Amino acid sequence: MILTYQPFELLLKHTFTIAKFSRTSTPIMLLQVEYEGQTGYGEASMVPYMGESFQSATDFLKKVDAARFKYPFDFGAIIAYLDSIAPGNPATKAGIDIALHDLDGKLQQKPCWQLLGSDPAKMPATSFTIGIDKPEVIIQKVKENPDCKIIKVKSGRDSDKELIKTIRSVTDLPLFVDANQGWTDLQQSLDLCHWLHEQGVLLIEQPMLKTDIDSNAWLTERSPIPIIGDEAVQRLPDVEKAKGVYHGINIKLMKSAGMYEAHRMILKARELGLKLMIGCMSETSCATLAGIALAPQCDWADLDGPFLTSNNPYKMPEFRDGKWVLGDNPGLGLS
Ligand code: MG
Repeated sequence: MILTYQPFELLLKHTFTIAKFSRTSTPIMLLQVEYEGQTGYGEASMVPYMGESFQSATDFLKKVDAARFKYPFDFGAIIAYLDSIAPGNPATKAGIDIALHDLDGKLQQKPCWQLLGSDPAKMPATSFTIGIDKPEVIIQKVKENPDCKIIKVKSGRDSDKELIKTIRSVTDLPLFVDANQGWTDLQQSLDLCHWLHEQGVLLIEQPMLKTDIDSNAWLTERSPIPIIGDEAVQRLPDVEKAKGVYHGINIKLMKSAGMYEAHRMILKARELGLKLMIGCMSETSCATLAGIALAPQCDWADLDGPFLTSNNPYKMPEFRDGKWVLGDNPGLGLS
């Protein structure tokens, strides 16, 4: 098994502002694993607030002994091995896991979604995300929607109601709201939940600080709209902790260290009666396809990476009627 990687700067179409950060590009590590004439492709998207970088990814990857990835793959043992090299580094670990899943599908001549037990008929609509901006730019961004049937709004600053009113002036599509831990006052938050419910908002992501378990749980108990934990939920052990605090969780491959653990998180969440959303970071078609493979096992999808970036090096996956379409090509189906 040969593992290679190269850095890539993924450019965003617009400066992306959420409750606490702004940025114009994202460092990506593109990975390949080669075995028996087949190549598996993976991707690590290292959004700055998660703490990974080209440097940390390179340092980690230098320590990986690819000779330990024996086919047929034991993905549980592979993640345990990667975790034994160093804690953290979830995006870099995801890059390896995604490349190995792509390779696994190609060696078995089956699409990843089939190997993971997904039903293409259950694909949820994906949302199109709009970052915090001036009203005229917000309106412009809504008009750039590539036919998504849900708009996701980044809130968490003082002008949440105005932001929603601006969006409502140009579209009546259902909305997701992502507060990115930006809400603080309990009663104001609950009032806002009721108001957002009347505005056609389907769910609210991470309203309060991820460390403020009591406030998130208080709001979840009273909110008329599902409250979804995102920043609070990264890997498998976090799923259990989300029960009673959130109605559901947002799984992202760059947090979960890849597809294997994301799938286990989905199964665990279902067992606990939690709702499921699958999200993404700024990603190319590669990691997006890995998310798409698991999306039919989730209630909601926010897999819009390729819509928000301008130099995706791969072909756009097929998108129809607001949903990604699972193809029959082996592996991820990347081209
Ligand atoms: Mg979020």
